[in-house]
Amino acid sequence: MARYVDLTAEEQRAELARLREEHAAFKARGLALNMARGKPASDQLDLSLPLLDVLRSDSDLTSEDGTDCRNYGVIDGIPEAKRLMAAMLDDDPENVIVLGSSSLTAMYDAMARCLDFGTGGGAPWCTLPAVRWLCPVPGYDRHFAVCEALGIEMIPVPMGADGPDMDLVERLVAEDEAVKGIWCVPKYSNPGGVTYSDEVVRRLAAMECAADDFRIFWDNAYAVHHLFDDAADQDRLLDIADTCVEAGVPDRYLKFASTSKVTLPGAGVAALAASPEICDEIRAQMGAQVIGYDKINQLRHARFLRDAEGIAAHMRGHAAILRPKFALVQAKLHAALDEAAVATWSDPRGGYFVSFDGMPGTAARTVALAREAGVTMTGAGATWPYGRDPEDANIRIAPTLPPLEELDEALDVFACCAKMAALEALLAAE
Ligand code: PMP
Repeated sequence: MARYVDLTAEEQRAELARLREEHAAFKARGLALNMARGKPASDQLDLSLPLLDVLRSDSDLTSEDGTDCRNYGVIDGIPEAKRLMAAMLDDDPENVIVLGSSSLTAMYDAMARCLDFGTGGGAPWCTLPAVRWLCPVPGYDRHFAVCEALGIEMIPVPMGADGPDMDLVERLVAEDEAVKGIWCVPKYSNPGGVTYSDEVVRRLAAMECAADDFRIFWDNAYAVHHLFDDAADQDRLLDIADTCVEAGVPDRYLKFASTSKVTLPGAGVAALAASPEICDEIRAQMGAQVIGYDKINQLRHARFLRDAEGIAAHMRGHAAILRPKFALVQAKLHAALDEAAVATWSDPRGGYFVSFDGMPGTAARTVALAREAGVTMTGAGATWPYGRDPEDANIRIAPTLPPLEELDEALDVFACCAKMAALEALLAAE
């Protein structure tokens, strides 16, 4: 078998007929497999069950500064939780605000506050004729949903191997004062698994922005989510806070993280880090919204994970479960697709996803074929603002949730569908 583009039309038709039979056989099996969302598998969740035994009715529920965690108060987090989340956010505890259980909520709220009240002394964004936001693509669909819900116009910016296309970013932020910010998942990005290079981080901090209140939403959701234990096999990221301070724009960034994919999603701890001025601004605005978040959960997490080394040790447990799954994705996709040469995909060293690019015009068809055969994928286009991938090429693969045997089957189905869609597109173009 040669590359599909090099086959004659007749050979392509024969190969498509063979794949249709394979697809029909998958359908007949009534599969129900899922590679749609980046959820931890149940054995990963098991790793955190001891979290539930950390606090009992006879435990000391006092934080180290004497706060009774059972009661109201402490708007920005107990000291041990600030220290813990500072370790995840690569920042100082005094620049950390510990929040509820979701970083997505934290990002939504941060954006909504900028719209309602403004930031850094600037006008509330809701009073401006337009607010625009740079969205590296492929990117995280829920980021795009936040902008869409809040009426912020999204501008896609292509991702490269070391971060967003900075020539384009620099041009857009310099020429348009309505461009108020950028989404960044700077480490093991969702979905590409890309970690921003030092140069990209420096350029983000140094770039001239027409808007004085330009904000980098630095969503470091996968800060500690390495697939490999050896430091040489782990990505490292330059700190945006130090870099912005050095560049003379200390208020430019807001860092976000959570323990969602460290402990229990939905029952974890989220936090942000920002300059002292921006932290003051946020605490003041937040005061109307909350008296204090869940300090019992903060205490439990701080006692369970302890510190950076405790987090790293816990994450090695996750990595041991995830490594074979990511290896399987690579092995199966290479085995099924290398010869046909109709797709490329990422091979990340951390995070939760593999970004798959099929031939232009085939992503929606591939996802539809997979669904017919009982495999649910993230919707085609989801990795683009407004769900519109102009090339209809990108599909996010989320291999973490299914057990290995199911993942194996799901990848067989997926590869078959990607090849069918490619052949259909090639034949249609004849
Ligand atoms: N940011 C990114 C990049 C994510 O991939 C996810 C989860 N899929 C989140 C945020 C959501 O995090 P949380 O559970 O803290 O809201």
